Amino acid sequence: MSVSRKIIIDLTESMAKVDVPVQFQGEFQLDADLLQYPNAKLEKILVDFDVTFENPIVFVEGEITCVVSGLCDRCLQQITHKQFVLPFQQEFFKDFADDDSYVYCDSKLDATKAVQDEIVLSMPTNLLCKEGCKGLCPKCGADLNTQQCSCDTAKPNAFSVLKNLKL
Ligand SMILES: [Zn+2]
Ligand SMILES: [Zn+2]
Repeated sequence: MSVSRKIIIDLTESMAKVDVPVQFQGEFQLDADLLQYPNAKLEKILVDFDVTFENPIVFVEGEITCVVSGLCDRCLQQITHKQFVLPFQQEFFKDFADDDSYVYCDSKLDATKAVQDEIVLSMPTNLLCKEGCKGLCPKCGADLNTQQCSCDTAKPNAFSVLKNLKL
């Protein structure tokens, strides 16, 4: 299985069997900066789709698995090959559609844009090493998941107030 940057689904088999789902699987390398994590990248994605030709609409349903590596947003721990499984469901229209819809041409369906849109929409906005990661102490930098420090961080200082305003 070669790794491609575009998700092109060949519809020949689906078109020969109207209303019968045909499996489409693959591994793809999309734009690594698709996700806006400050210290992590989208390594690759795996798709597992059922592609059904419902003349003339093509219905694609299945899962996108995003593999992410980098650093936790809060504690900067290394995260390696973390997997996120996103459900995917999309209609593709023949040749022409309004701006909000996706299209296919002839027997080729380019699902790249639809899959990218789904990833941007559905992936968590923060990348954390684990749910409820406590992060680093803003004063001394201690990893609060593994140790406690004696800093007084109860009151927000001017810096953290500014930071919150920016968000
Ligand atoms: Zn963390
Ligand atoms: Zn501290």
